[in-house]
Amino acid sequence: MDRRLIGRCGVYCGACEIHRAYKDSPALRVSLAQKHNCEVGDVVCEGCQQVHARGWAGHPEWGKNCRVLKCLAQHGFRFCFECPDYVLERCQLHSEMCASYALLEEDLRGNLERIKKGESRTWLAEQDKRWRCVHCGGPIVASHNLYRCHHCNQHPRY
Ligand SMILES: [Zn+2]
Repeated sequence: MDRRLIGRCGVYCGACEIHRAYKDSPALRVSLAQKHNCEVGDVVCEGCQQVHARGWAGHPEWGKNCRVLKCLAQHGFRFCFECPDYVLERCQLHSEMCASYALLEEDLRGNLERIKKGESRTWLAEQDKRWRCVHCGGPIVASHNLYRCHHCNQHPRY
């Protein structure tokens, strides 16, 4: 279990494309670097809890440029659930994240609730199991348009 993979907004970092590229796939790393015009060696992410120390600044939305991370740092919070705007459901940024992750059948508010209650360990184990390829068992990327597992090249879900 790697606690660094507990996303501050309720996202599971173990299924992030940047993290998976960095951990398992030189090819995926090269393609991300090309796509965002960066050095391959810069495509690094150890998870949300470590982004300030070891994270990628070349992606427009993730890594060091994550808007949620910046917002949390500005307000001095570690997790979104510490923020009154989140609690009162009036944070537009988090609502947008929730809508996007709902398409992947991920409930970010539910995830944060578990993390807040101290259930990170079981939550991480469940997420690790959930984001695996049905063919090879390798950890996969949570994405709306992922049709190939980066380990075995088969559809990760069928
Ligand atoms: Zn596979």
